[in-house]
Amino acid sequence: MSARQATQHCPYCADTNLWPLEEGWECRSCLRAFSVKYLGLVRPNASPVATGHER
Ligand SMILES: [Zn+2]
Repeated sequence: MSARQATQHCPYCADTNLWPLEEGWECRSCLRAFSVKYLGLVRPNASPVATGHER
């Protein structure tokens, strides 16, 4: 049995042969490893993620 999740797509080769790593995912089709960063919530009817940069 595996914990493979096929709902993710590799951002480089668009394959779904992704396997979880400690800090992200590895693609076993193009042999790249990458992480997915959570940026925050977005509101569909408002401006996107608040940057928090205040002047
Ligand atoms: Zn790939």
